[in-house]
Amino acid sequence: MTDLLLRNGRPWTPGLPLDLADIAITDGRIAAVGPDLDLEAPQVIDLEGAIVLPGLVDAHCHLDKTMFGGPWTPNTGGRTLEGRIRNGEGRRAELGIPSADYAANLLRAMVAAGTSFVRSHIDIDPEVGLGGVAAVREAAARLAGRVDVELVAFPQGGLLTRPGVPALLEAALADGVGTVGGLDPAGFDRDPAGQLDLLFDLAERHGAKIDVHLHDQGLLGAWEYELIIERTKALGMAGRVAISHAYAMGGLEPDHQRRIAEALADAGVAMITCAVGGAPVVPVRLMAETGARLAIGNDGIRDLWTPYGDGDMLRRINQVSFRDRLMSDPEIELALAAGTHGGAAVLGLDGYGLAVGCNADLFAVTASAPAEAVVSVPPRRLVVKRGAVVAHDGVFTD
Ligand SMILES: [Zn+2]
Repeated sequence: MTDLLLRNGRPWTPGLPLDLADIAITDGRIAAVGPDLDLEAPQVIDLEGAIVLPGLVDAHCHLDKTMFGGPWTPNTGGRTLEGRIRNGEGRRAELGIPSADYAANLLRAMVAAGTSFVRSHIDIDPEVGLGGVAAVREAAARLAGRVDVELVAFPQGGLLTRPGVPALLEAALADGVGTVGGLDPAGFDRDPAGQLDLLFDLAERHGAKIDVHLHDQGLLGAWEYELIIERTKALGMAGRVAISHAYAMGGLEPDHQRRIAEALADAGVAMITCAVGGAPVVPVRLMAETGARLAIGNDGIRDLWTPYGDGDMLRRINQVSFRDRLMSDPEIELALAAGTHGGAAVLGLDGYGLAVGCNADLFAVTASAPAEAVVSVPPRRLVVKRGAVVAHDGVFTD
């Protein structure tokens, strides 16, 4: 018995033709895809030729930091990493963050824009403890069935240089947080081997994944990639380790860049880019050519770090594509693949995509081609999560 029948969509899977097809959904899964399906359903929606994309994956954001939907808060972060960290911690209590309400506001906006999966870093430090974990878990529970949220225990204020943080990370992992984060092992903690050994030890003992914020530029950043790659291979953690931001990658000499991308592919280490600020994005074409995994995320949204952001992953894919000068349709589709299938691989999602048997997590946009959807960022006409319509014409359905 078909629950939901989407007529006349054009489902997109990287590398396959974009043909007109109906999509039948049963028990939250895609049961059939093909032209003129001879089926009936209690809910039938004519997509009138709209492109159907798998649910967007925001592989890097900070739900615990956001003030989304709250009053406008002028940015007081300053321009240095350390100053922004101090500002971010110092004004939390005054502004009522972390807040389950703000996080839920943002998750609703993300769902309305077609996002089905989110990985959120959560600050862990002696002042907030695991308060951010609790707030974001509450928000995720309110949005259960509409979006899936994965948490990262993130030492935003330093790990080795901040007494008490290693024990708090351990407590977060023991409490069920599935991924442990790091922060500039050299540039911030000034002990790259020390921080990475601690992270990999925590991950190994708790069966956790790893996602390290790495802003360090130039050869220092590139050397840290090698340290992460070495440890991933030594511990057999292929597919479970990601480097977020990886600002150094975009600025390396082409030969060096290629060697790193090949080593990432070989070790199963992913990069996650957010097109933040003036730093180069991770080169999308090179990652695809070498088979290295790349995902995309929004990073901070309307928080003490940045006044910008709206949670729309399609717009973020557009920004990555623009910043990386992707011009031809196949190039632009590489960015779209990073924001969908790439993110799904990094999060380790099963049953992702638009093939028969996959979970029915998808959205539809009116565009002539996938690249036009990335460039024009059209309104999302329909968003479906596990077979249920969760947004219509850009509006979240309660
Ligand atoms: Zn971040």
